[in-house]
Amino acid sequence: MARGYTRAPHLVYIRRHRCRQWHPNSTVDPIIVTVSPATPAPVTRFAPSPTGLLHLGHAYSALVASRLGDGYILRIDDIDKTRCRPAFTEAICRDLEFLNLPWRGDPVFQSHRMTVYEEALASLRARDLVYPCYLTRAELANILSAPQEAPVATDAAIPADEVARRSEQGMSPAWRLRTARALDLARHLSWDDLRTGQRRQLDMTAHGDVVVARRDIGTSYHLSVVVDDSLDGVTLVTRGADLEDSTHVHRLLQALLDLPSPAYFHHDLVRDAAVSYTHLTLPTKA
Ligand code: GLU
Repeated sequence: MARGYTRAPHLVYIRRHRCRQWHPNSTVDPIIVTVSPATPAPVTRFAPSPTGLLHLGHAYSALVASRLGDGYILRIDDIDKTRCRPAFTEAICRDLEFLNLPWRGDPVFQSHRMTVYEEALASLRARDLVYPCYLTRAELANILSAPQEAPVATDAAIPADEVARRSEQGMSPAWRLRTARALDLARHLSWDDLRTGQRRQLDMTAHGDVVVARRDIGTSYHLSVVVDDSLDGVTLVTRGADLEDSTHVHRLLQALLDLPSPAYFHHDLVRDAAVSYTHLTLPTKA
């Protein structure tokens, strides 16, 4: 292996170059991701939620997925029926075509995979790795606003007879991960961060007992994403740095569900097009 390269899965190498020529105003180093010519390009995906029109951040995300993956799988994250609209999906597809960022194959829709997500949840339930949470939004907000109560297990927050009453009245629960138990089962997990070339140790301290199935839709972003990335054979997840923290949850769920773990590249966020676009690091395959 060449000096200065960090080995990551799927024979993808990353190297950080110190070089200011790529843009005179840049204060950041570009990131060069070198994909071994001997292996196929990583399988990447771009996964917009069709809750609005394609924005600049989306376009940048699709560009990163396309560059690093030699095209990408287009996955429409439309599990939240109240917020997603088919008209936005159509507009997103048109805009990606207009931007000359074609995806590979047919788009994949999360809304077509609800049964698979149910099965994943059932598998976690069967092993007592999740518990039903009957807290209302207001009760949860109350718990979280108490400074000494960082995100914690919520199953003990309401008395058992109240839980039974809510269940009898037909209230659907959310399902929360028994994080402590899960971490006991899946020790020493890590994931490959291609942006820094580091192997990152799993850190769930910010998450507590994360919701893996919302009461209104029966799944969650976290659960659906790990199932999808596995079903679609994704080997490199490219997405915005705002989702980096979620990667710890995803890595843990992958281990619990016995799913493969892709590598990750969390790209810069396009915060204000007028001011900061010159500071974006666009990964380049060398
Ligand atoms: N659908 C998510 C979003 O639009 C992205 C999911 C992902 O890339 O993991 O923010």
